[in-house]
Amino acid sequence: MRQNMRKLVLVFALLFCGCIGAQAQFTSTVNEPSSGLPADPGASNPAMDTPQEDLPTHTFWDKENVLLFSGVAVFRALDYTSTKNMLARGRGEILLPDDVVDNSAGFAALEAAATATSIGISYVLHRTGHHKLERWLSITHLSVTAFGAARNYALKSYHPGTNSRGI
Ligand SMILES: [Zn+2]
Repeated sequence: MRQNMRKLVLVFALLFCGCIGAQAQFTSTVNEPSSGLPADPGASNPAMDTPQEDLPTHTFWDKENVLLFSGVAVFRALDYTSTKNMLARGRGEILLPDDVVDNSAGFAALEAAATATSIGISYVLHRTGHHKLERWLSITHLSVTAFGAARNYALKSYHPGTNSRGI
């Protein structure tokens, strides 16, 4: 039952991303100009009819993305520490093979790769004009990872001589 919980969270996250993706496709055609942009030096130019929909509404490494990516990295690190903690208390990893989680350097590299992949996908979404989805990807990633880390720490320790319910 508990083992299926983690898979369920993963499926839910993927479905959630899919819903946001579908929503972003509907809203991406309506690209309203942001009032928070600095003054455009070409604004006084009489050639005002140039389409501005293609311009990004923010730079990729803006404050919000830096915070979100930092959050993803922090919770990925917590996922690493919580998984190691859980394994040290006699519990078993469900999603990854034991060979991966038993290799500290390999497991840390996997967590770093997951963070880098998330940033990379955000960049693709940014470049293709899906700015809301770009943010929601990081928000969903760090939320699911935070839930997993909290769950890992909350699991009861396994004591030999008892069953998986601790009885
Ligand atoms: Zn963007």
